[in-house]
Amino acid sequence: MRIDKLLANAGLGSRKDVKKLLKQGKVVVNDCFIKDPKQHVFPETDIIYVNNEPVIYKAFTYFMLNKPKGVISATKDDSQQTVLDLLDSKDRLPQLFPVGRLDKNTTGLLLITNDGQLAHRLLSPKHHVNKTYIAKIDGTVTQEDVQCFQKGIKLEDDYVTLPSKLEILTSASVSEVKITISEGKFHQIKRMFLAVGKKVIDLKRLTMGPLVLDQELKLGEYRPLTEEEIRKLF
Ligand code: URA
Repeated sequence: MRIDKLLANAGLGSRKDVKKLLKQGKVVVNDCFIKDPKQHVFPETDIIYVNNEPVIYKAFTYFMLNKPKGVISATKDDSQQTVLDLLDSKDRLPQLFPVGRLDKNTTGLLLITNDGQLAHRLLSPKHHVNKTYIAKIDGTVTQEDVQCFQKGIKLEDDYVTLPSKLEILTSASVSEVKITISEGKFHQIKRMFLAVGKKVIDLKRLTMGPLVLDQELKLGEYRPLTEEEIRKLF
């Protein structure tokens, strides 16, 4: 791997910043100063220091974010704040992206990574990864709704959803429910409730596959996944 790519991936700045560090003689690989950004290094075995600090190479980065409202699940946008804008500049590594999308007004668990293969596995319709949400619904959710969700809901475009699990937490003029789906169609939960004549007024994702939102994370906060969480994802 090229030294400039490795250092940029390790969070030492953009390729341009890293070139500057190399030019300034701040990068030492196996006790030799390296100045050429094209120099190939072996991240698993070479001993790399920048500014006398060891560089710990990680092939991939995984962050768990508690997404707040008003932020879009994209990597870049000219006018709106994206979930990547919530990361500290030191964590904004090249090629990070959110795994799937939550609507602008949905909160909760979002995985941010640069591991494309893992993202593909979590998002692929073939893999049916369960996602659990807590939703506030304008209207009284009934056992009939629970059964409809279990059977599959016909959406406005005639698509019939896979069976989903709807649990009523409170049933009143505004109800609270827990819902588990194994697909990721556009606005899926909102459209499923619309199909039974009800409106979602608040939506929060709690889980995605084995990953569970850390209740210690306030809205807008994030942290790296633990080794244990990463292991469970594979
Ligand atoms: N379903 C929705 O309607 N919105 C989301 O953000 C996620 C699932």
